[in-house]
Amino acid sequence: MSLFHQIERFGHESVTFFSDPASRLRMIVAVHNTVMGPALGGCRMWPYAGIDDALEDVLRLSRSMTYKATMAALPFGGGKAVVLGDPKREKDEALLFAISHAVNGLGGRYIVAEDVGMTEADMDVIGRTTQWVAGRTPPNGGSGDPSEATAVGVFEGMKSCLEQLGDEPTVRGRTVAIQGMGKVGYHLARMAAAEGAKLFISDIDSSRLERAVTELGAHSVMPAAILSVPCDIVAPCALGGVLNEKTIPSLNCRIVAGSANNQLATDVDGDALFSRGILYAPDYVINAGGLINLSFEQGAPGGYNRERAMVRVREIAATLTQLFQRSRAESAPPFRVADRMVEEQLAESGAKQIQTESG
Ligand code: NAD
Repeated sequence: MSLFHQIERFGHESVTFFSDPASRLRMIVAVHNTVMGPALGGCRMWPYAGIDDALEDVLRLSRSMTYKATMAALPFGGGKAVVLGDPKREKDEALLFAISHAVNGLGGRYIVAEDVGMTEADMDVIGRTTQWVAGRTPPNGGSGDPSEATAVGVFEGMKSCLEQLGDEPTVRGRTVAIQGMGKVGYHLARMAAAEGAKLFISDIDSSRLERAVTELGAHSVMPAAILSVPCDIVAPCALGGVLNEKTIPSLNCRIVAGSANNQLATDVDGDALFSRGILYAPDYVINAGGLINLSFEQGAPGGYNRERAMVRVREIAATLTQLFQRSRAESAPPFRVADRMVEEQLAESGAKQIQTESG
């Protein structure tokens, strides 16, 4: 496939390749859509097998950011950066400054943030020489680790799912199975336990699992069995692609609501969940808490304010309720309705922008 075909496939506005031999920087920044505002998205550093893998990753990731930001009604578009290299061996100050120089070159169309292979401390360094950065540490005016905000959004979203099925909007007395006790999964488990949920959890890292079992009284389950545990809610908080033709027939729950990105292996799997009558909260809607929190760093009067940001994160529940109502009215799976809502919004705002620009 030609480079232009690849870029046109998802409707990207621009894809820029940056190289700085002195610092060994090789970076691709994909700006998917800036109709709603500058593209905000993480910078991932990964030892990609090659340029094609890196390009595919950045194109997919940046597109998801547009959908996530638009659905959360944020004044930001979608973008992402990938740096080719091993962060453990190849990340140093010179490379971080080269990233910041590249971001400056985009003149504010892309705002960089942390992602896999990057930390909040790295954003502090990048932020010394660019204003277009988010996700710095709290002492440097940033919002810090986004995981807790993401977990709050998922937790509130679970309640919206329960209400949609005619239950009380609380996990008290409900059974929740969480796949992954990492940064988001653990916070989520803590909140669900505090509200009185019965918890089943799994992780391939036994120390993380043991901590949650001891501290929260959760029941541990083998990784291969967590998705088929009989429960009210399954929360995938580890990997993408976990909802697929193998796992969906064995799900034993009423709701799937978790933080993992790209949970559906394919759109057909989303339709299969709908046919089985399992309510699936689309990943980019329910896991937007971290992005919403991050967005409050940018241009907020008086600087970042966690309380204001969290009020907005909790609105994920209302967004899901609206989505589920439309899904019911249209007899269509929520993930398809969400895509449509985003695309309608972008088309409408894009048309207005063109009208304004052409006077
Ligand atoms: P993390 O790396 O801290 O945690 C992931 C956990 O999953 C780890 O403990 C890992 O050992 C475990 N795991 C891996 N494979 C597993 C398996 N097969 N079975 C059970 N456990 C397994 O990551 P995180 O920040 O908690 O993010 C979790 C998911 O949510 C990821 O998909 C991430 O992309 C997504 N997400 C995170 C945020 C955020 O704010 N951190 C925001 C949006 C989306």
